Parts: sequence; C-alpha cells; structure tokens
Amino acid sequence: METNGDYEAIVIGAGLGGLACAALLASDGRRVLVLERNDYLGGRCSAYERDGFTADRGTHMITRIEGGPYAKLIRRLGLEGELRFICIESDDPPLIEFRGCRIPFPFAQWTRLHALALVPVCWRFSAREMVGSGLAMARMIADPGMAKRLDNIDFDTWLSRYMPEGPARDLVGSLPVPLFGVAPWELSAGMAITALQDWFTDASSGYPEGGSGAIAGTLAHFISDHGGNVETSAPVERVTTYGGHVTGVRLEDGTRLRAPLVVSNLGIKDTMSRLIGARRLPGDYYHKVQGYRETSMSTVQVKVALSRRLLDAPCVMGSPDAGIDLAAFYRYILAGRVPSSFMGIVNVPSNIDPALAPDGQQLLLGMMLSPCEAEDWEPWLDLCERGIEDLVPGALQHALWIERLTPLDVAASSGRTSTASLGLAQLPHQVRKDRPSVATPIEGLYCVGDDTGGTAPAPNWPSTAPCAAIGGFKLQSRSIPRPPASGTATTSVSKRKCESSVFYESRVSIGTAHSPSSGGGKSRSLEAACRSGSF
Ligand SMILES: Cc1cc2nc3c(=O)[nH]c(=O)nc-3n(C[C@H](O)[C@H](O)[C@H](O)COP(=O)(O)OP(=O)(O)OC[C@H]3O[C@@H](n4cnc5c(N)ncnc54)[C@H](O)[C@@H]3O)c2cc1C
Repeated sequence: METNGDYEAIVIGAGLGGLACAALLASDGRRVLVLERNDYLGGRCSAYERDGFTADRGTHMITRIEGGPYAKLIRRLGLEGELRFICIESDDPPLIEFRGCRIPFPFAQWTRLHALALVPVCWRFSAREMVGSGLAMARMIADPGMAKRLDNIDFDTWLSRYMPEGPARDLVGSLPVPLFGVAPWELSAGMAITALQDWFTDASSGYPEGGSGAIAGTLAHFISDHGGNVETSAPVERVTTYGGHVTGVRLEDGTRLRAPLVVSNLGIKDTMSRLIGARRLPGDYYHKVQGYRETSMSTVQVKVALSRRLLDAPCVMGSPDAGIDLAAFYRYILAGRVPSSFMGIVNVPSNIDPALAPDGQQLLLGMMLSPCEAEDWEPWLDLCERGIEDLVPGALQHALWIERLTPLDVAASSGRTSTASLGLAQLPHQVRKDRPSVATPIEGLYCVGDDTGGTAPAPNWPSTAPCAAIGGFKLQSRSIPRPPASGTATTSVSKRKCESSVFYESRVSIGTAHSPSSGGGKSRSLEAACRSGSF
C-alpha cells in the first residue's frame, strides 16, 4: 500500500504562493501533495462561473508580465504556451475619471510621454503644486537607487519635501494606495517608489486568458503532470513536529499525513498561531510574527452581469465626484465610516478576453477600498453599486444579476483570520529585509505567499499576486535534503498513522503516475474542481 511517506513535500493551500511553490518543487523532481481547504483552487486569485460569465474573486490584473516574477515563473516551468496573458489594452485603453475629466490612460503600456495625459486632471492645481509634483515624479524616475534609502519613512512624508499639503499631494500619494491597501501616510515611501519605478520601466500589465482562475488551474495541472497531487476540500488543522523538525500535517478530520518538508500558504500569522501554536515556537519569533500588521484596508466588490455591452474600455477607475477629497476618503475608511463619494475601479475582463461573457453581454467587476471590519456592509456595497452606475451609466438598468462581496468573502477565499485583501502591509520597518522570511524556526517548515519573501523585491505594483510566487523561488533555491527513498519512510509510520492512508487513497487526484485509484472521499479531485469551472 502506498502511504503518505511517499510525499517529499506537503503544501498547505492552493493559492498562487502554494501552487507556484509546489510547481517549482515538482519541476525539481520532488513528489508534492497540495492540500486546499476550499473546493476550488487559487484562493484570492480564483474565479467562478455563473450563467455563462466567468467572474474573478479577487485578482484581475498582473503587472510586469514580460519582466516580472510571473514571467520568470512561467519560463522556469516552460508554461509559455499554456498560460497566456493578454495585454489589457489591446484595443481600448483604460479610462481614468477624476476631477470631472475622463481621460484614456494606457497604464499597461505606459511611456513617460503619457504623463501629459494627466495635464487636464492637474490644471486646477496651483503652480507650486504642479512644480512640486513634477519634481517628485522626476526624482522617482531619475534616481533608481533612492527607493531603498526611503523604506522606513512613509510616502506622504517624503512627498511633503516637494509639495504642500493639498489635493495635488493627495493625488500623487494616492497612485499606489488602492494597490497596497494602506493610506499614503502609512505606506513605505521606498516600496511606493520602487513600485512606481518598476511600472515606469516595465509597463506590461496583462490579464490571464481564461480569467484569473486560469493561473491556478495551469499550475495545478503542471503539478499533477509531474507526479504530484492537488486536493481540494482538504483543510489542514495542524502542522505536526517532533524535536523542532516538521513531521507532516493533521487534517481537520483527524487524518495524519507525513512529509519531511511542509510549506504553508496560509498567512504567516495564522500559520504560527493556528497551525503551530506559541508553545512550539521561540517566544521572540512568535511575538514578532503576531506583531506584523496586515493592510489596514480591504475591499468591497459588486459584480454586475449586463444584458448588453455598455463600455469598450478594459476598466474605468477614479471617482465620479469631481470634488472628491482623497485624504478624507482614506480617513473615513480607516475610521470605519462610509465616505460620501465612490472612488474605485470597474473592471471589464470580458473586454480583454471575450470568452468570459456570453456574446453581446458584459460583466462589470466594481471594487472599492473598505475597512477590514464593519457592523453593516450594506451601505458600503450600496456606495460601490452607485459608483458603478455613475462610471458606467445604465449598468443597473441592464443588469441580469448583481453579486455583492464583502471582506468576509476575501477571508473565505484566503482562509485567514484577517479580512485584509493583500496580506502584510508594506509599512516602514515591515518591507524588504524586514519582511518575514520564507524559512521558520521549525526545521522543514516554510511559509510562502504574499506575506513572506524576506529580501524579495518589492511587490510589482500593482500586483501582489506575483509576489506570492517569490517564496517558491526562494525555497527552490535552498538545498533541502531529500527524504529516504520511497518505501523507507513507510516503515517509520506507526500503525495508527497508517490509517490515514485510507484518507489518502480516497483523495488522490488525477493524472499522477503513482496515484492509487480515486475513491469516493469527500474531497473534490483536481479534475472535478477544474471541470466545474470553479478553479
Ligand atoms: C479583491 C482583491 C483584488 C485583488 N486584485 C489584485 C490584482 O489585481 N493584482 C494582483 O496582483 N493582486 C491582486 N490581489 C492580491 C492577490 O489576490 C493576492 O496577493 C494573492 O492572490 C495572494 O496569494 P497567496 O498565495 O499569498 O494567498 P491566498 O490566495 O490567500 O491563498 C491561500 C490559500 O490557502 C488556503 N488555505 C488556508 N488555510 C488552509 C488550511 N488550513 N488548509 C488548507 N488550505 C488552506 C486558502 O483556502 C487559499 O486557497 C487582490 C486581492 C483581492 C482580495
């Protein structure tokens, strides 16, 4: 009987971090098992189908598809032909609506000349504000080495060297905000500038063909094609250890699985508090991890399926309120109060990949920053819905159906206690070398995902999803000892633990050379997760 001892690595969670890491390990010839608690793959970067529409749960755009971490991942795995990104503005550029102007702004293929497009937005600024914002932007572009020196001050403080307090500073300070999920006065200036510099030098933003779920689906198939397994509906309750070394995992139903290497894609705080526990960790490490701050903002989303096409652009972002006060908008959110005006983005993925909506119809994905917690989400969702109607007039009249998602849905897709959209915040003293490492004090236990990365490069604005993959590269580059040859490990598994192989047999997925036949266990196989379109 094949036992769990045959796995060289168990990965907890099939978000992009977990799947990218598992795929990299599988490409090294390691036999990997991925255990995912949800009945779909991809976590916050996943999609589902409804009435012929494919709707993203979270991620809708990946930046730096030509030179960023995803491009590297795809090349490393040889997936160029299978995972394709479509430039988000192949036909029409994105639109920005701000201060009463609606301008096309090709941010996916940005060149510095496009800054001129912002002139109509800025014309009401004072001369001092104009000069100051020009200087700040020029400094960012001209001095690539500057960012790292500014990691530990906030972006607004850095901007204050060039610009007086006021709408122009709020506007420049806001450029990276929705994407980092923290206000300009909280965000690390070094990270904000690195992200903007990345964007200036490699402005290739794309959308995955087939929808955001295509990334997870492709990686999962790669893993199974390389002898691994990906299991859904398989929640892990505990990482098991012995003498400071990882020994495997225990699932919520009590099943134990053994492996010498365990990788957690659950956020670092939950991994340490829920899967390990303070007693098994050095006290200073545990407290340091629990002291990291998550992003202070989350997201409310309203999805509107339209019976007809209303917009040609791939997205429209900004605010329909010409007099919106951006700083006040963030302050309201941070205080848990509903702002008076909408500011956010309406994505139209079916304008990028027409296969995502029935012919002649359209799906609008409206999104607005929100607090992480609220007693009543309805007013937030109502504001988001009104914002969509204002930016895309007629949307509500032509709606076939409307879905409203709150930060609780974000937490449901990530499995985290926190409802933050983007994991640990990029705050001063919490970036680059000060971010948690992929390695942990427990031998054989690693953490990947958008929280970790240690000295990894910045999240490539506005994409945090690619960062999730960085942990995989870091782990792959470590020399991790291989376990004894297959079969040897089995002998060390106690009889009681061997009972878990019943579980194991009932959950194996498709397509692996070593898979026992799949039983009728309660987990869903990869094939089923993919077939239902819920990956
Ligand atoms: C609304 C929204 C919009 C976003 N837009 C963008 C965007 O446009 N571009 C971009 O790049 N990024 C975007 N992001 C961020 C991006 O989605 C995330 O940074 C990225 O997907 C995180 O990947 P991850 O692997 O770190 O974690 P997750 O996606 O959270 O994956 C963790 C996985 O672990 C599983 N899991 C948790 N606990 C257990 C357990 N005990 N047992 C088994 N499995 C478990 C979860 O179910 C989940 O599948 C957005 C996020 C949100 C919420």
